Amino acid sequence: MKKLLMGNEAIAYGALEAGVQVVTGYPGTPSSEIFTTLAGMAGERGFHAEWSVNEKVALEVAAGAAYAGARAMVTMKQVGLNVAADPLMTLAYIGVKGGLVLVVADDPGPHSSQNEQDTRKFAQFAKLPVLDPSTPQEAKDMTRAAFDISESLGLPVIIRPTTRTCHVCQDVEVDEKQMERPKPGGFQKDPGWVIFPSLAIKRHRWLNQQQDEMQKIFENSPFNKIHPGSRRSGIVTTGVAYNYVLEVIEQMQLDIPVLKIGTSYPLPVHSTLQFLDGIDRVLVIEEQEPVLEDQLIKMIWQHRRPLVLRGKYNRLVPREGELDVDKVKRAVAAFFEIDLPCKEEKKLPPLPVRPPVLCAGCPHRASFYAFKQAARGTDAVFTGDIGCYTLGNMAPLNAVDTCLCMGASITLGTGLQLVEPERRVVAFLGDSTFFHTGIPGLINAVHNGARLTVVVLDNRTTAMTGHQSHPGLTRNATGQRVEPLEIARLAEACGAGLVQVVDPLAYDEAVQAAREALEFQGVSVLVMRRECIALVKGQNPSRRIDREKCLDCGVCLEELGCPALFKGEEGPVIGTACTGCDLCKQICPAEAIVEGGEVQ
Ligand code: SF4
Ligand code: SF4
Repeated sequence: MKKLLMGNEAIAYGALEAGVQVVTGYPGTPSSEIFTTLAGMAGERGFHAEWSVNEKVALEVAAGAAYAGARAMVTMKQVGLNVAADPLMTLAYIGVKGGLVLVVADDPGPHSSQNEQDTRKFAQFAKLPVLDPSTPQEAKDMTRAAFDISESLGLPVIIRPTTRTCHVCQDVEVDEKQMERPKPGGFQKDPGWVIFPSLAIKRHRWLNQQQDEMQKIFENSPFNKIHPGSRRSGIVTTGVAYNYVLEVIEQMQLDIPVLKIGTSYPLPVHSTLQFLDGIDRVLVIEEQEPVLEDQLIKMIWQHRRPLVLRGKYNRLVPREGELDVDKVKRAVAAFFEIDLPCKEEKKLPPLPVRPPVLCAGCPHRASFYAFKQAARGTDAVFTGDIGCYTLGNMAPLNAVDTCLCMGASITLGTGLQLVEPERRVVAFLGDSTFFHTGIPGLINAVHNGARLTVVVLDNRTTAMTGHQSHPGLTRNATGQRVEPLEIARLAEACGAGLVQVVDPLAYDEAVQAAREALEFQGVSVLVMRRECIALVKGQNPSRRIDREKCLDCGVCLEELGCPALFKGEEGPVIGTACTGCDLCKQICPAEAIVEGGEVQ
């Protein structure tokens, strides 16, 4: 039957059809919906699904299940693969028994990531096969096939959709029946599971041989297709770029051959050579890094083909950002020396400037503001982390001075403090990030005698990626009740000398707690706990400004940056986005902010 599915949902259905038995992951855009779709089915369909504390843990749990013969899948975004890189690189040597599929969603653009790294490069580095879907239907089919490929090679297989494939919708042919899988055979003890250097030498040889096996499987893969054409110049493409190529050649009415490679590493050499038999010039169009292009250059050199090859190295195809139809059209026109008609420049009205901002009523605003007040007059550095609270760097808060990767607020802060021991350092990170990679950094800071304040912005959810669970909450990914882990107790167990929990919206107490934390001669941890406003929005009546009392001092407007507050003709105005958090009320020197605005 056909079902309208987003690419990520289609991947989930592919796993279901393949009879997946264990699913793990860590949330990250653009991958998150793959796991949430599967988690929603897990109870009824009888498989295990868990949000793990980070990607390394997720991969290791899935690998354990695959060692015991189960089919397992791991989901993450491209930067998450860096966290999982340690087990991945050796897992390629050890191999798996049950099928193990990693879905790593890439974010070219990037829309919500700290870099644009291309997972196909990682696949090459780890010497693992990678499939590059161009549509939701193909993403589903590839996922299903990936389990079989993994089992036949005894290796993990990577599926690498990019943002558009993850989030576009299409009618997808699905078989809602879950594949009946035999009960996993269980873990068989064998020296082959223990990676001693002597084994690594043997398995590296085996892994290199497997490259040829992968190539053989991919030679006949249905995910590689040829569109015939009469010209002696053609295009090789992959992933979502394939759709743009088809649209462009139709628009430009070009009768050219196109080779679409769905198995982007390793390149199926023989079928690619067959395609190139009738061709003198080839243009390679792919999103992100020149992965296909590099393999084609090598293949052309090895097989002494006198071909002209163009792509990213000639700057015909951009190497940064997402591709789209216009970019592909410009590349195709340049390659075929076709003059594109100059588009008439339409004068569009300027768009309103909408900088990203913390939500109205966001408790993180109160936490940042309390620390800015407590550190006033000092030259404190505020290190930040990955999450919606990175927006604390926007004016007027200006409370995030660094942001590198998950968990780096504490460790970067520790390093800064080594060079400037007298300078106060405050490391901000979220509750989910604390569990992800914050804890080792905290232990390291304590063990090495750092002087640092760690602020856990505990909003009781993983907000940025869509409110997923984490170990501090009372429900897990499949909705089961679980015992929550208390961050403050964990911080004490890690050895932090001063640990306090405070509500950031209790302004005076929050500032007082921030002062105490800043004055502490060691590692202090302040857990600033208040539910994310997106979870409780609408419960509080909004506020208004009493014109009689307002001094028009501008404090509320200029210091908080709440998007519900704006400048009106007679002074500040509170709009309907107000959630009634009362932060502005607490800092107003004239008590001019009162209850009674429009209720949302
Ligand atoms: S802080 Fe209070 S007095 Fe100052 S502008 Fe805002 S509402 Fe008016
Ligand atoms: S009470 Fe003040 S700070 Fe809170 S959401 Fe409303 S306007 Fe913004």
